[in-house]
Amino acid sequence: MTNQFNRNYHTHCYLCKHAKGTIEEYVLEAIQKGFKAIGFSDHAPMKFLQHRSLRMDEQDYPIYLKELKQAIVKYYEYILIYKSLEIEYFDNLHNRYEKLLDELDYLILGQHYILDEGKLKSVYKIKTLKELTIYKTTIIKAMRTKYFKILAHPDIFLINQGELKKEIIDLCKEIILVAKQENVLLEINANGYRKKKHEENGKLYNVYPREEFWRLVKELNAKAIISADAHHPKHLTDEAIYQAQKLSIDLSIEVEEELVLD
Ligand SMILES: [Zn+2]
Ligand SMILES: [Zn+2]
Repeated sequence: MTNQFNRNYHTHCYLCKHAKGTIEEYVLEAIQKGFKAIGFSDHAPMKFLQHRSLRMDEQDYPIYLKELKQAIVKYYEYILIYKSLEIEYFDNLHNRYEKLLDELDYLILGQHYILDEGKLKSVYKIKTLKELTIYKTTIIKAMRTKYFKILAHPDIFLINQGELKKEIIDLCKEIILVAKQENVLLEINANGYRKKKHEENGKLYNVYPREEFWRLVKELNAKAIISADAHHPKHLTDEAIYQAQKLSIDLSIEVEEELVLD
């Protein structure tokens, strides 16, 4: 592979309760592997999602900030460390995003739930065109707010699809075009390669990245970023990263290696 993967902006830690490793353990691994930057973006605490998914507890958020601050002070000579969260978009949370952006460097949009007629539904379970359209509308609205620098696994909503119908391709295109307009980087998420493939009509599909989606990204000339979405320090440099890089190279997708922060 030509370009080395040495900046990762999507990193979790033990505080979300389904990732392994402290902030310091990830930082040390990154330094050892010659990384120039590491951004932490653990799953944001979210009261009304707390019972549905493993994520950081509200009372652990100050610990997160404290550990980040300590790492920044201790390792600033060796690596750039950024503070972020991976968070869902909901209409009523604009104040929260603004407050978070006062203390963090950027936010990653990771839409793991949609609101369908007032009910929360996991994106891992969505399948109908109606549900897919809600996902599209939600993340487009989110990108328009400009709170988010990176759209994590944009293709996650295709998780239960086999061959993509024209209507679904059109939804993908809408998402990609808005990302391009709003300068939101579309994330090729290596964590998808660490997951079990999805079977539909006897054919195996990656849960994400979905090649069909990334072909459209190339066709529409939008920008991508590769993320480890590390849930273990070893994920910063594993085989999944290699696969994500290979996808971008095979499809000649323009990949930003460095996140520009204003
Ligand atoms: Zn996670
Ligand atoms: Zn993540």
